[in-house]
Amino acid sequence: MLARFIAVVFFAMAAEAETKNLVLVTADGLRWQEVFSGIDASLMNEKAAGMQGKVILRGQLWHESAMERRQRLMPFFWKQLAPDAVVLDNVRVTNSFRVSYPGYSEILTGRAQDEVIKGNSPIQNPVETVLEFLRRNLRLTKEQVAMFGSWDTFRWISEKTPGSITLNAGYMDSGLTPRIRELSRMQHDIRSPWDSVRHDYFTFEMALDYLKSAKPRVLYIAFGETDDWAHDRRYDRVLESIQYFDRSLERLWTALQTMSEYRNSTALVITSDHGRGSKLEDWSGHGAKVDGADRIWAVIAGPDQAKAGKIEAQKDVAPAALRMLGLDPEQYLGR
Ligand SMILES: [Zn+2]
Repeated sequence: MLARFIAVVFFAMAAEAETKNLVLVTADGLRWQEVFSGIDASLMNEKAAGMQGKVILRGQLWHESAMERRQRLMPFFWKQLAPDAVVLDNVRVTNSFRVSYPGYSEILTGRAQDEVIKGNSPIQNPVETVLEFLRRNLRLTKEQVAMFGSWDTFRWISEKTPGSITLNAGYMDSGLTPRIRELSRMQHDIRSPWDSVRHDYFTFEMALDYLKSAKPRVLYIAFGETDDWAHDRRYDRVLESIQYFDRSLERLWTALQTMSEYRNSTALVITSDHGRGSKLEDWSGHGAKVDGADRIWAVIAGPDQAKAGKIEAQKDVAPAALRMLGLDPEQYLGR
Protein backbone atom coordinates (compact mmCIF):
# COMPACT_ATOMS: atom_id res chain seq x y z
CA MET A 1 0.00 0.00 0.00
CA LEU A 2 2.71 2.42 1.02
CA ALA A 3 4.78 1.41 -1.99
CA ARG A 4 1.87 2.07 -4.30
CA PHE A 5 1.27 5.44 -2.65
CA ILE A 6 4.93 6.37 -3.09
CA ALA A 7 4.85 5.20 -6.69
CA VAL A 8 1.81 7.39 -7.39
CA VAL A 9 3.39 10.42 -5.72
CA PHE A 10 6.63 9.82 -7.58
CA PHE A 11 4.80 9.53 -10.88
CA ALA A 12 2.91 12.75 -10.15
CA MET A 13 6.17 14.56 -9.34
CA ALA A 14 7.91 13.32 -12.44
CA ALA A 15 4.93 14.23 -14.59
CA GLU A 16 4.82 17.75 -13.17
CA ALA A 17 8.50 18.59 -13.66
CA GLU A 18 8.35 21.37 -16.21
CA THR A 19 11.94 22.48 -15.90
CA LYS A 20 14.17 21.56 -18.81
CA ASN A 21 16.90 24.18 -18.59
CA LEU A 22 19.23 25.48 -15.93
CA VAL A 23 20.72 28.99 -15.89
CA LEU A 24 23.19 29.55 -13.05
CA VAL A 25 24.59 33.00 -12.31
CA THR A 26 27.18 34.03 -9.72
CA ALA A 27 28.55 37.41 -8.65
CA ASP A 28 31.98 37.03 -7.05
CA GLY A 29 32.09 38.13 -3.42
CA LEU A 30 28.94 40.24 -3.70
CA ARG A 31 27.96 40.68 -0.05
CA TRP A 32 24.52 39.95 1.36
CA GLN A 33 24.85 43.38 2.97
CA GLU A 34 24.56 45.15 -0.41
CA VAL A 35 21.98 42.74 -1.82
CA PHE A 36 19.66 43.08 1.17
CA SER A 37 20.38 46.61 2.43
CA GLY A 38 21.84 48.51 -0.52
CA ILE A 39 24.63 51.05 -0.12
CA ASP A 40 26.43 50.63 3.23
CA ALA A 41 26.29 53.72 5.47
CA SER A 42 29.58 52.76 7.14
CA LEU A 43 31.46 52.83 3.81
CA MET A 44 29.69 55.42 1.68
CA ASN A 45 31.56 58.45 3.02
CA GLU A 46 34.95 56.81 3.45
CA LYS A 47 37.96 58.07 1.54
CA ALA A 48 39.63 54.72 2.36
CA ALA A 49 36.84 53.02 0.40
CA GLY A 50 37.22 55.27 -2.63
CA MET A 51 34.07 57.22 -1.84
CA GLN A 52 35.55 60.71 -1.57
CA GLY A 53 33.67 63.08 -3.86
CA LYS A 54 31.19 60.43 -5.03
CA VAL A 55 28.27 62.78 -4.40
CA ILE A 56 26.14 61.74 -7.37
CA LEU A 57 26.45 58.00 -6.74
CA ARG A 58 25.69 58.45 -3.03
CA GLY A 59 22.71 60.67 -3.79
CA GLN A 60 21.37 58.14 -6.26
CA LEU A 61 21.62 55.19 -3.85
CA TRP A 62 21.15 56.53 -0.32
CA HIS A 63 17.86 56.45 1.58
CA GLU A 64 17.06 56.10 5.29
CA SER A 65 15.18 52.86 4.66
CA ALA A 66 17.16 49.70 3.86
CA MET A 67 14.23 48.42 1.77
CA GLU A 68 14.32 51.54 -0.38
CA ARG A 69 18.15 51.49 -0.56
CA ARG A 70 18.26 47.94 -1.91
CA GLN A 71 15.67 48.78 -4.55
CA ARG A 72 17.72 51.75 -5.61
CA LEU A 73 20.85 49.60 -5.99
CA MET A 74 19.17 46.55 -7.56
CA PRO A 75 15.81 47.67 -8.96
CA PHE A 76 15.22 44.69 -11.25
CA PHE A 77 16.21 42.17 -8.61
CA TRP A 78 13.89 43.54 -5.92
CA LYS A 79 10.94 44.82 -7.93
CA GLN A 80 10.64 42.16 -10.60
CA LEU A 81 12.60 39.02 -9.74
CA ALA A 82 12.34 38.69 -5.94
CA PRO A 83 8.53 38.92 -5.52
CA ASP A 84 8.03 35.53 -7.25
CA ALA A 85 11.36 33.90 -6.35
CA VAL A 86 12.87 32.23 -3.29
CA VAL A 87 15.37 34.72 -1.85
CA LEU A 88 17.75 33.61 0.93
CA ASP A 89 20.04 35.90 2.90
CA ASN A 90 21.72 33.44 5.24
CA VAL A 91 23.37 30.61 3.34
CA ARG A 92 26.56 29.14 4.84
CA VAL A 93 29.81 28.43 3.06
CA THR A 94 30.94 25.04 4.41
CA ASN A 95 34.45 24.89 2.96
CA SER A 96 37.09 26.18 5.39
CA PHE A 97 38.71 28.69 3.09
CA ARG A 98 36.05 31.23 2.07
CA VAL A 99 37.88 32.15 -1.10
CA SER A 100 36.77 31.77 -4.69
CA TYR A 101 37.86 28.38 -6.05
CA PRO A 102 36.68 26.42 -2.97
CA GLY A 103 33.39 28.38 -3.09
CA TYR A 104 32.71 27.85 -6.78
CA SER A 105 33.66 24.22 -6.47
CA GLU A 106 31.24 23.85 -3.54
CA ILE A 107 28.51 25.35 -5.75
CA LEU A 108 29.40 23.24 -8.81
CA THR A 109 29.99 19.91 -7.07
CA GLY A 110 27.61 20.06 -4.09
CA ARG A 111 30.40 19.42 -1.62
CA ALA A 112 33.37 21.04 0.09
CA GLN A 113 36.69 19.49 -0.92
CA ASP A 114 38.95 20.81 1.83
CA GLU A 115 41.59 18.13 1.30
CA VAL A 116 42.26 19.08 -2.31
CA ILE A 117 40.96 22.56 -3.03
CA LYS A 118 42.60 24.82 -0.49
CA GLY A 119 42.83 28.05 -2.42
CA ASN A 120 42.81 29.59 -5.87
CA SER A 121 45.63 27.60 -7.48
CA PRO A 122 44.70 26.52 -11.00
CA ILE A 123 44.24 22.78 -10.52
CA GLN A 124 41.77 20.71 -12.53
CA ASN A 125 38.63 20.06 -10.49
CA PRO A 126 39.04 16.50 -9.16
CA VAL A 127 35.27 15.89 -9.15
CA GLU A 128 32.83 15.76 -12.06
CA THR A 129 30.95 19.08 -11.84
CA VAL A 130 27.18 19.34 -11.98
CA LEU A 131 27.60 20.93 -15.42
CA GLU A 132 29.37 17.80 -16.67
CA PHE A 133 26.90 15.56 -14.85
CA LEU A 134 23.96 17.27 -16.56
CA ARG A 135 25.58 16.87 -19.95
CA ARG A 136 26.08 13.15 -19.30
CA ASN A 137 22.77 12.49 -17.55
CA LEU A 138 20.56 14.44 -19.97
CA ARG A 139 22.62 13.21 -22.96
CA LEU A 140 23.44 16.74 -24.10
CA THR A 141 26.02 17.85 -26.62
CA LYS A 142 29.02 19.95 -25.64
CA GLU A 143 27.27 22.95 -27.26
CA GLN A 144 24.24 22.52 -24.98
CA VAL A 145 26.25 23.04 -21.78
CA ALA A 146 28.09 26.37 -21.63
CA MET A 147 30.03 28.40 -19.11
CA PHE A 148 31.16 32.04 -19.48
CA GLY A 149 33.26 33.57 -16.72
CA SER A 150 35.23 36.76 -16.13
CA TRP A 151 37.88 34.97 -14.04
CA ASP A 152 40.31 32.73 -15.91
CA THR A 153 40.44 30.09 -13.17
CA PHE A 154 37.01 28.83 -14.25
CA ARG A 155 38.92 26.98 -16.97
CA TRP A 156 39.94 24.56 -14.21
CA ILE A 157 37.01 24.87 -11.79
CA SER A 158 34.22 24.07 -14.26
CA GLU A 159 35.37 20.69 -15.51
CA LYS A 160 36.95 17.48 -14.31
CA THR A 161 37.48 16.43 -17.89
CA PRO A 162 38.94 19.28 -19.98
CA GLY A 163 36.88 19.97 -23.07
CA SER A 164 33.67 18.37 -21.83
CA ILE A 165 31.64 21.62 -21.91
CA THR A 166 31.66 24.87 -23.92
CA LEU A 167 33.89 27.10 -21.82
CA ASN A 168 35.10 30.68 -22.09
CA ALA A 169 36.77 32.24 -19.06
CA GLY A 170 39.17 35.13 -18.57
CA TYR A 171 40.84 36.60 -21.64
CA MET A 172 40.08 33.55 -23.75
CA ASP A 173 39.53 33.89 -27.48
CA SER A 174 36.44 32.46 -29.08
CA GLY A 175 34.70 32.42 -32.42
CA LEU A 176 31.49 30.75 -31.27
CA THR A 177 29.36 33.42 -32.98
CA PRO A 178 30.25 36.56 -35.01
CA ARG A 179 29.34 38.75 -32.02
CA ILE A 180 31.45 36.64 -29.65
CA ARG A 181 34.34 36.84 -32.12
CA GLU A 182 34.08 40.64 -32.09
CA LEU A 183 33.87 40.75 -28.25
CA SER A 184 36.76 38.35 -28.08
CA ARG A 185 38.92 40.81 -30.06
CA MET A 186 37.73 43.82 -28.08
CA GLN A 187 38.48 42.32 -24.66
CA HIS A 188 42.21 42.57 -25.33
CA ASP A 189 41.94 46.25 -26.25
CA ILE A 190 39.70 47.20 -23.30
CA ARG A 191 41.67 45.68 -20.46
CA SER A 192 40.53 45.56 -16.87
CA PRO A 193 43.02 46.45 -14.12
CA TRP A 194 43.51 42.71 -13.40
CA ASP A 195 45.50 40.15 -15.36
CA SER A 196 43.24 37.20 -14.58
CA VAL A 197 39.82 38.90 -14.69
CA ARG A 198 38.29 40.59 -17.73
CA HIS A 199 35.46 43.10 -17.55
CA ASP A 200 32.05 41.55 -16.83
CA TYR A 201 30.71 43.32 -19.91
CA PHE A 202 32.55 40.87 -22.17
CA THR A 203 31.50 37.84 -20.18
CA PHE A 204 27.84 38.78 -20.07
CA GLU A 205 27.56 39.97 -23.67
CA MET A 206 29.15 36.73 -24.88
CA ALA A 207 26.87 34.62 -22.68
CA LEU A 208 23.72 36.44 -23.76
CA ASP A 209 24.61 36.12 -27.44
CA TYR A 210 25.35 32.43 -26.94
CA LEU A 211 22.02 31.96 -25.16
CA LYS A 212 20.14 33.56 -28.05
CA SER A 213 22.00 31.79 -30.85
CA ALA A 214 22.89 28.32 -29.50
CA LYS A 215 20.04 27.97 -26.96
CA PRO A 216 21.98 25.82 -24.47
CA ARG A 217 20.08 23.68 -21.95
CA VAL A 218 22.59 24.49 -19.21
CA LEU A 219 24.25 27.90 -18.98
CA TYR A 220 26.52 29.24 -16.24
CA ILE A 221 27.48 32.95 -16.18
CA ALA A 222 30.08 34.05 -13.61
CA PHE A 223 30.52 37.77 -12.92
CA GLY A 224 33.79 38.80 -11.31
CA GLU A 225 34.21 42.56 -10.89
CA THR A 226 32.21 42.84 -7.67
CA ASP A 227 35.13 41.07 -5.95
CA ASP A 228 38.08 42.69 -7.67
CA TRP A 229 36.98 46.28 -7.09
CA ALA A 230 36.38 45.41 -3.44
CA HIS A 231 39.93 44.04 -3.10
CA ASP A 232 41.09 47.33 -4.61
CA ARG A 233 39.04 49.17 -1.93
CA ARG A 234 36.95 50.92 -4.55
CA TYR A 235 33.47 50.77 -3.03
CA ASP A 236 32.24 53.19 -5.71
CA ARG A 237 33.16 50.70 -8.42
CA VAL A 238 31.71 47.82 -6.41
CA LEU A 239 28.38 49.66 -6.37
CA GLU A 240 28.59 50.39 -10.10
CA SER A 241 29.43 46.74 -10.79
CA ILE A 242 26.33 45.70 -8.81
CA GLN A 243 24.25 48.10 -10.88
CA TYR A 244 25.63 46.49 -14.03
CA PHE A 245 24.93 43.05 -12.56
CA ASP A 246 21.30 44.04 -11.94
CA ARG A 247 20.88 45.41 -15.47
CA SER A 248 22.38 42.19 -16.83
CA LEU A 249 19.96 40.07 -14.79
CA GLU A 250 17.11 42.06 -16.28
CA ARG A 251 18.35 41.47 -19.83
CA LEU A 252 18.89 37.79 -19.10
CA TRP A 253 15.42 37.46 -17.58
CA THR A 254 13.82 39.26 -20.51
CA ALA A 255 15.59 36.93 -22.94
CA LEU A 256 14.44 33.87 -20.99
CA GLN A 257 10.85 35.12 -20.91
CA THR A 258 10.71 35.93 -24.61
CA MET A 259 12.25 32.71 -25.96
CA SER A 260 9.89 29.74 -26.26
CA GLU A 261 12.79 27.36 -25.45
CA TYR A 262 13.12 28.90 -21.98
CA ARG A 263 9.81 30.48 -20.96
CA ASN A 264 8.19 28.54 -18.07
CA SER A 265 10.76 25.76 -18.38
CA THR A 266 13.92 27.26 -16.91
CA ALA A 267 15.38 27.15 -13.41
CA LEU A 268 17.33 30.32 -12.60
CA VAL A 269 19.81 30.06 -9.72
CA ILE A 270 21.81 33.07 -8.52
CA THR A 271 24.40 33.06 -5.73
CA SER A 272 27.94 33.94 -4.69
CA ASP A 273 31.22 32.19 -3.88
CA HIS A 274 31.96 33.80 -0.52
CA GLY A 275 31.04 36.72 1.72
CA ARG A 276 33.42 39.38 3.04
CA GLY A 277 34.04 41.40 6.16
CA SER A 278 31.51 43.90 7.48
CA LYS A 279 33.75 46.65 8.85
CA LEU A 280 35.83 49.38 7.26
CA GLU A 281 38.97 47.38 8.10
CA ASP A 282 37.87 44.12 6.53
CA TRP A 283 34.99 44.72 4.07
CA SER A 284 37.42 44.54 1.14
CA GLY A 285 38.72 41.09 2.07
CA HIS A 286 37.55 37.58 2.82
CA GLY A 287 39.07 34.22 3.73
CA ALA A 288 39.19 31.82 6.68
CA LYS A 289 40.04 34.53 9.20
CA VAL A 290 37.54 37.17 8.10
CA ASP A 291 34.39 37.32 10.21
CA GLY A 292 31.27 36.89 8.10
CA ALA A 293 33.04 35.66 4.94
CA ASP A 294 31.16 32.38 5.34
CA ARG A 295 27.76 34.00 4.86
CA ILE A 296 26.32 34.23 1.35
CA TRP A 297 22.90 34.69 -0.28
CA ALA A 298 21.03 32.75 -2.94
CA VAL A 299 18.02 33.12 -5.22
CA ILE A 300 16.09 30.45 -7.05
CA ALA A 301 13.31 31.09 -9.53
CA GLY A 302 11.38 28.93 -11.95
CA PRO A 303 8.29 26.77 -12.35
CA ASP A 304 9.69 24.04 -10.06
CA GLN A 305 11.24 26.30 -7.41
CA ALA A 306 8.98 24.71 -4.77
CA LYS A 307 10.77 21.38 -5.37
CA ALA A 308 14.26 22.75 -4.76
CA GLY A 309 14.39 21.68 -1.10
CA LYS A 310 16.28 23.48 1.63
CA ILE A 311 19.25 25.66 0.76
CA GLU A 312 21.03 26.25 4.04
CA ALA A 313 24.57 25.84 2.78
CA GLN A 314 26.50 26.60 -0.39
CA LYS A 315 26.75 22.86 -1.05
CA ASP A 316 22.92 22.69 -1.24
CA VAL A 317 22.82 24.78 -4.42
CA ALA A 318 23.66 21.98 -6.89
CA PRO A 319 21.18 19.49 -5.31
CA ALA A 320 18.49 22.20 -5.44
CA ALA A 321 19.17 22.78 -9.13
CA LEU A 322 18.99 19.04 -9.82
CA ARG A 323 15.69 18.69 -7.96
CA MET A 324 14.19 21.53 -9.99
CA LEU A 325 15.22 19.64 -13.12
CA GLY A 326 13.37 16.59 -11.80
CA LEU A 327 16.57 14.66 -11.02
CA ASP A 328 17.57 12.88 -7.84
CA PRO A 329 20.66 14.60 -6.32
CA GLU A 330 21.83 11.27 -4.91
CA GLN A 331 22.44 10.11 -8.46
CA TYR A 332 25.09 12.81 -8.66
CA LEU A 333 26.35 13.09 -5.07
CA GLY A 334 26.44 9.36 -4.51
CA ARG A 335 29.13 8.90 -7.13
ZN1 LIG B 1 38.09 37.74 -3.58
